[in-house]
Amino acid sequence: MSNKKKILLLPGDGIGHEITPATRRVIDWFQSTGRANFEITNGLIGGSSYDAHGTPLTDDTLAQAKASDAVLLACIGGPKWDAIPFELRPERGLLKIRKEMGLFANLRPALVFDALADASSLKSEFVKGLDIMIIRELIGGLYFGQPRGIEDAPGGRRGYNTMTYSTPEIERVARVGFELARKRNKKLCSVDKANVLETSIVWREDITKLHAAEYSDVELSHMYVDACAMHLARAPRDFDVIVTENMFGDILSDLASTLSGSLGMLPSASLGAADANGHQCAIYEPVHGSAPDITGKGIANPLAMILSFAMMMRYSFDMTDNADLVEQAVQNVLKAGVRTADIAEKGQKPVSTDDMADSVVKELGLIAG
Ligand code: NAD
Repeated sequence: MSNKKKILLLPGDGIGHEITPATRRVIDWFQSTGRANFEITNGLIGGSSYDAHGTPLTDDTLAQAKASDAVLLACIGGPKWDAIPFELRPERGLLKIRKEMGLFANLRPALVFDALADASSLKSEFVKGLDIMIIRELIGGLYFGQPRGIEDAPGGRRGYNTMTYSTPEIERVARVGFELARKRNKKLCSVDKANVLETSIVWREDITKLHAAEYSDVELSHMYVDACAMHLARAPRDFDVIVTENMFGDILSDLASTLSGSLGMLPSASLGAADANGHQCAIYEPVHGSAPDITGKGIANPLAMILSFAMMMRYSFDMTDNADLVEQAVQNVLKAGVRTADIAEKGQKPVSTDDMADSVVKELGLIAG
């Protein structure tokens, strides 16, 4: 099969070294059955990179990431590196790679697999079949705006940050939202705080203009962030795709995560802009961290990373059938009662990381025919 796709695999730290080989089994299944052609390179990031090179992200790894068709990253961090200087911590490597690759759109699906509906923070009748997508602007807004700082002030100190959004920043992330909504149920909800913030007034007006000019086939609604938080916690299935700025997205996507039941099930994607040759930088990674409390026990849930690989095939490689296959296999395996410890219910004997991956691979073989 031609059209080889270059994947950079970054296991990172902690359980990353357990869920990455498990996910690799799934990747290899696609390769060995001729359903895809991948060229895989391995690299270091986070604490493992610090241990080997004295920095959480080397220029070499960054260059490899930029040159790949997509990066699949597990997770970084851990107590071993808590005492090292701030700029060398594992988390700095992750922030740097996202920033340097210009990944402005963070896609966080909130999915509830039927078999896990009882694990949600809401009653299962409110979340069964939940399938929404939150798109968070990732490299602008309050987290990056200048000026920022802490200074002495009468009575003590004063901390300050700046929130800014320009039309190009708003339009590029809104386009991701509209395009995704087009491929789904054609409903996009833009979330802001336009009753209070100037950035939100510009946000709302620019998205409304873009909608009228290019995306009138998509149903666009606007919601204030506080109302959205309430609605997500009460009737999440009313949404399809949500697009919002950095800080609101940070909070809303974590809120939506709780609906899914377990951190070990949540994938994500971070996308950059396509260049003149159509090459688009992207990182796919589980939402969870390196889980030091269970590292080395072989019990971590590999599904968030396996589902991140499915997102990679869907959004970076346009391999919709392959992505559907992975998601269906995961659905079936869960339905059959195969569970790692984090998602096991009373009476279910938990399986290991490797056994979960084996079950997914076996199921792929069965359903692919
Ligand atoms: P965490 O996500 O690592 O763990 C939180 C809880 O969820 C733990 O009980 C853990 O055992 C469990 N958990 C997480 N992933 C799991 C999986 N796949 N299977 C089963 N259980 C799972 O968050 P934390 O404990 O707050 O952070 C630990 C380290 O991870 C810290 O160093 C933190 O900075 C880092 N971190 C990294 C990322 C990232 O790589 N994107 C994200 C969050 C935290």
